[in-house]
Amino acid sequence: MTTDKLPKDKITYVELAEVINDIKNIVIQKPDYVYPKGGPDCDMCFDFPLGQDFDLEDCGLHTSEEGGCRYFDNSNHSVCLIGTYFESKGWTTPDMFGVDEMWEIEDENVDEVLDKIQASTGFSFGIEVRDFLTQTQSRQDTYNTWKDSFNNSLPIYLKDESVV
Ligand SMILES: [Zn+2]
Repeated sequence: MTTDKLPKDKITYVELAEVINDIKNIVIQKPDYVYPKGGPDCDMCFDFPLGQDFDLEDCGLHTSEEGGCRYFDNSNHSVCLIGTYFESKGWTTPDMFGVDEMWEIEDENVDEVLDKIQASTGFSFGIEVRDFLTQTQSRQDTYNTWKDSFNNSLPIYLKDESVV
């Protein structure tokens, strides 16, 4: 199929319960992982010549001197929790995101990246999924463990899903 607009029956609504299950399966493998700080705290970030603009090639973990977290490194391996989720779904190629190069998604928050996936595939994400992933990303990006990022982003009625 080469049409830009998919017919409604080809749209797959990604359910919150499924997303939570997928993220949980990743978190339980590295519950205490904290995403490394960037900028002055990262050797790779600050190992580029003074006066030169920061380039994504400089650091596989960060998007800027301020230390933004990356979804994928320069070898297209997932690095942040959300990137690892994308990888677990097989969403690792530019065509999934409607971009020419994978680095084009690096400066975007997860809500913006979900818009890209939604525009380029049959997957659709509702507000609950977006809220959950946005909160999880935000907590991870402010140096909470993956377990805390996940647990504290669960809606009240799904706290039973917490990783212990
Ligand atoms: Zn870095």
